[in-house]
Amino acid sequence: MISGATSGTRARRLEGAPFANEIRERVAAEVAEWTETHGHPPGLAVVVCGRSAPSMVYLERILSACERVGIAGSLVDVPGDDAATQEHELTAALHRLNDDAAVAGIIVQMPLPAGVRLKTVVDAIEPLKDIDGIHPLNAGLLRLGYDGFVPATAHAALEMIHRSGVQLAGADAVVIGRSPVVGMPVAFMLTKEDATVTVCHSKTRDLASKVRSADVVVVAAGKPGLVTGDMLKPGAVVIDVGINVVEGRIVGDVEFDSAELVAGAITPVPGGVGPLTNALLLSHLMRAAQRQDHAKEHFEA
Ligand code: NAP
Repeated sequence: MISGATSGTRARRLEGAPFANEIRERVAAEVAEWTETHGHPPGLAVVVCGRSAPSMVYLERILSACERVGIAGSLVDVPGDDAATQEHELTAALHRLNDDAAVAGIIVQMPLPAGVRLKTVVDAIEPLKDIDGIHPLNAGLLRLGYDGFVPATAHAALEMIHRSGVQLAGADAVVIGRSPVVGMPVAFMLTKEDATVTVCHSKTRDLASKVRSADVVVVAAGKPGLVTGDMLKPGAVVIDVGINVVEGRIVGDVEFDSAELVAGAITPVPGGVGPLTNALLLSHLMRAAQRQDHAKEHFEA
């Protein structure tokens, strides 16, 4: 908990853009240095299997962010009109990208088309290039407290918590959502930083009482209005990861107007976790490029 909204005051808004700008500036400097040493920029491959409009917007934002910091972003379209062909082509594309020294990182558009199994990606993607942390090796490293690649969204949620200034050691944290891409990695990272973590999900009884006990609340359920101000402990840090479209507007999972009257700090949607996710993905790419260099040095030594 941080010194929070007392009656009549509003929570501090944790905007993602300023933090994202800082990260992009740092990455741009690292990319420039890397490019000078290697004679070419590090590459990010964005693999698309069956285009869907909302995720294309997200992917195009990533590619334009790459361009801004000097990363060579490329879109790899996987052909095929049926799931079996798409799985076959996806595997072949991932193997090609794994072997391509100019590609330091790979992300695959999610969700995959109906019938294309996540297993196809997991079985083929090189863990050292898996910059969005979907491979079980990276998930396992995180679970055991080692340094692997974590999903960028979960990383962004944690970074926002750090930026709120809350003391995590000993804090009570509630994470709503237990998906492998957001809820669980956030819970593991918070546990590693000595918070006491409760993970809630769709079968959780009396969600309100769990949330009311928390100094830090991370909401990643995809349910607009799930958390309201009257559920919060005064001064709590509230991180809203949800992205929902309601009557043509993008909203989170938290009812912002009531929550900001009670929370100490809160992320808006849009403009909170989202912009930071994108910038952190670029920093993961740079880390992947550096790690592959080190791995090569060890291999060649
Ligand atoms: P997901 O795989 O659908 O998982 C949702 C989780 O929320 C599940 O664990 C589910 O419980 C739980 N849940 C659903 N309804 C609930 C309820 N009424 N009470 C408590 N828990 C409930 O979703 P996800 O991929 O983790 O994404 C979560 C949200 O984050 C979505 O809105 C998504 O669009 C957004 N997102 C944002 C970013 C970003 O950059 N900001 C990136 C990725 C995702 P069960 O396990 O019991 O089903």
